[in-house]
Amino acid sequence: MLNKKYARCLICNQEFTKEEIKECISCPKCGNKGLPSNLKEDVIVKINWHELHILCVWAENWARQIKDISDTQPQLTISCIAKRIQKQYPNKTPLTLAGEIEEVKKEFPTIETNIDDKPNKIAGEFNA
Ligand SMILES: [Zn+2]
Repeated sequence: MLNKKYARCLICNQEFTKEEIKECISCPKCGNKGLPSNLKEDVIVKINWHELHILCVWAENWARQIKDISDTQPQLTISCIAKRIQKQYPNKTPLTLAGEIEEVKKEFPTIETNIDDKPNKIAGEFNA
C-alpha cells in the first residue's frame, strides 16, 4: 500500500503517498507549509450551488480581511479550494467574487474595481 495516495496539498492539489511526504515540512511541489488534506476525509456532500457560492464568498471575504495578519496564505488557500470545486462544475457560475469579477472582465476588459481579486501570483500557476 506504499503507492496509495494519502494527502492532497490545498494550494497545488498535488496528491502524495505517505512515503512521499514522510520527511517533508512543506509541499514537495509548491512549498506550501499549510496542513494538507487527508484523502480519507474526502466526502460527497449534497449542497445547492447558491449555498456553496455563499460559503465561498464569505470565506473569500474573511480571508481578504485577515491576509495581512495571517501567515497561512488565507486568500490563496480559499481561492485554490474554490477553484478545485469549480472545476467539478465548470459550466456553473463562479463560486467566488474573484471569479465573478474575472467573468465581468472578459466582457469588459477595461473595467476597474477596488476588490483585491488576486490572492497572489502562485494561485494562477497552479489553478489556471
Ligand atoms: Zn502544493
